[in-house]
Amino acid sequence: KKTILSLLFAGHSIFAVAQTKETISGKVENLLSKMTLEEKVGQMAQITLDVVTNGPNRYASDEPVILNNESLEKAILKYKVGSILNTANNRARTPQVWHQIIGEIQKTALKAKNKIPVIYGIDAVHGTTYTAGATMFPQQIGQAATRNRELVYKGAEITAYETRASAIPWNFGPVLDLGNDPRFSRQWETFGEDPYLIEQLGLQMVKGMEGDNISNPYRVASSLKHFLGYQSAFSGKDRTPAFISEQALREYHLPAFKAAIDAGAKTVMINSGLINGIPVHADYQILTRLLRDELGFKGVVVTDWGDIENLHTRDRIASTHKEAIMKAINAGIDMSMIAYEYERFCDNLIALVKEEKVKMSRIDEAVSRILTLKYELGLFEKPIYPLKDYTKFGSKEFEQAAYDAAAESITLLKNEKNSLPLNKTRKVLITGPNANSMRTLNGGWTYSWQGEKVEEFSAKYNTILKAFQNKIGIQNVSYYPGVTYKNDGKYFEEYKDQFEETLKAANSADVILLCLGENSYTESPGNLSDLYLSDLQTELALKLAATGKPIILVLNEGRPRLISKFAHLMPAIIQTYLPGNFGGDALADIVFGDVNPSGKLPYNYPKFPNSVVTYNHKPSESRTVMAGVYNYDADYNPQFEFGHGLSYTTFEYSNLKLSQERIKSTGEITVSIEVKNTGKREGKESVELYLTDVYASITPDVKRLKGFTKISLKPGETKKVEFLITPKEMAFVGIDNKSIVEPGEFKINIASQTKSFFVE
Ligand code: BGC
Repeated sequence: KKTILSLLFAGHSIFAVAQTKETISGKVENLLSKMTLEEKVGQMAQITLDVVTNGPNRYASDEPVILNNESLEKAILKYKVGSILNTANNRARTPQVWHQIIGEIQKTALKAKNKIPVIYGIDAVHGTTYTAGATMFPQQIGQAATRNRELVYKGAEITAYETRASAIPWNFGPVLDLGNDPRFSRQWETFGEDPYLIEQLGLQMVKGMEGDNISNPYRVASSLKHFLGYQSAFSGKDRTPAFISEQALREYHLPAFKAAIDAGAKTVMINSGLINGIPVHADYQILTRLLRDELGFKGVVVTDWGDIENLHTRDRIASTHKEAIMKAINAGIDMSMIAYEYERFCDNLIALVKEEKVKMSRIDEAVSRILTLKYELGLFEKPIYPLKDYTKFGSKEFEQAAYDAAAESITLLKNEKNSLPLNKTRKVLITGPNANSMRTLNGGWTYSWQGEKVEEFSAKYNTILKAFQNKIGIQNVSYYPGVTYKNDGKYFEEYKDQFEETLKAANSADVILLCLGENSYTESPGNLSDLYLSDLQTELALKLAATGKPIILVLNEGRPRLISKFAHLMPAIIQTYLPGNFGGDALADIVFGDVNPSGKLPYNYPKFPNSVVTYNHKPSESRTVMAGVYNYDADYNPQFEFGHGLSYTTFEYSNLKLSQERIKSTGEITVSIEVKNTGKREGKESVELYLTDVYASITPDVKRLKGFTKISLKPGETKKVEFLITPKEMAFVGIDNKSIVEPGEFKINIASQTKSFFVE
């Protein structure tokens, strides 16, 4: 579907088509033949900007960054480093400053004999992270709740535009990890726990970023991360070992990567951890046999942060740095994201080639891929496009798309006795540590790594408190924090802040908006000792409930922190996830009924620490046999299930029809269903098809999402929705690790409707 945006972008594809694959491979071959070993190895090195800046701490975000010429020339001209990442001093800079920084870097690169431009990469995972004024979308977990492919595409397209407007052509996203463990600190960076949802939305993100051709100056190269099996650590902690069978890797983790690679994604970043005892960065089976030989990936493979060093210092599969480099490059790494000491990487790799421990052909292969990427991005012709080409940066049009995504992500989990929407004349007490914070609305990777500098850059946007004041007038809103985050580096520490005053204020309010959740964090600092929401937040919730005033619980969090100690006392519960800069406005619009909520959970919201079970579990996880004997509370009993999400209107499903009831294992079935809006308000609904393979040679999942479409219905309106079931949807990964469709009964379930078909 063509949006206005893509029509405007289309104008630039004229010169994009001028480059053909063939001419690029010719150019690469030619250039490669002129390069020394030192130049080639330099292309395989990626360093951080901090290495070449002069104590950037002193500078504000709009002041030029002073590059240290000596360090810059040493890296780029002496060591011939081909790539740089991240930002100096972990702080967002204006597009002007980015143009200045990258302009100087490219100028230096062009002084070298072969004039190879540097490729700059950045983590623009929900908007252009390190650019002041960039449009911030909901984090991926919220985008998954929208179930809206177009919104995800548009968000990625805008992020690509604003990243290129910052002179950066390479984005380290999307995150295609299976986000099935809320203990893990990066679940919010994922599309949630379902392989199909991740695959479908990941595809949109890649297409939105890369478009048809990445030489278009409004597109970037994407990086699928973190290949493969990251986020499934046994301990639940970042960068700790995972134990995953090959069957499970292929069934649950691989599909999203495979689909994105088939769609032409340009780069892949590797899982920082171990799988079955083997660091993925040194795993030939995964990096070469699977990724290259089987999936046919042709692009660049980059390590994660310092992970070649880690093979020696942390994972101990190499007794020296040099051996670590040998193992990683021979396993299939093309580019090393080097934490700091890049000289060691370059010198060692040169020596390894001379000693014939790394073959020249392996180096040529890696460098060809890197040069191809640089040619495809058009960097040789024009390393940077002028800033004046990017008039839509931070525009109202872009902000509208971010608002739309926030509004469609917010998920109404509970609405007892229709307590929502609220009447605008009610007196509201707003409280909780997340009530007045742009930082918590955005989460990590926002204008800084941990999101710790958000307030500085998001001042013009509305916190939940401000949005409510705008909506119903300051006179109708009272605010006491109750609990506040310390924000001193220990992100999870909290203190009581006007706690007693908060309880007192409840008495004069009609309703309480209790905004709980998490402070922002990224990666290991988000490791957790307890999945329950904090003791102080729990105390605040229980004491406010004891006042007898109705409470709307707002959960502003990157993962489902447990609320079972007080959820039953809350008449209404809303999950906002990390909705970005427009989360406050979108929430106010939903609470007062100006927007009808339509988000659906992208994960099971667990009730207890011992019942972290995904919706697509095995039957033994949800047995009903021997109830009364083995009925633990922690059996399959989520607080809210994957796919749950209420609306202010009601939808009725009827007429589930299958085009056939018996098919061959190579056959297809068209499934149709009618959905009617039986309420009084217009509303959006994600129609979701689940498939169950009733008996299979590997215990089948109880159900698996295999189709979803978001539709909009006026009151009384009915729409027919169709899904196509093909062998891909019916297949599972069998005992021999190959995809197979087995004969027998399959059940289709869409909302209240169920029907079977048989594969013969
Ligand atoms: C993260 C990656 C990120 C990289 C560069 C790593 O620590 O795991 O997701 O792309 O840093 O910032």
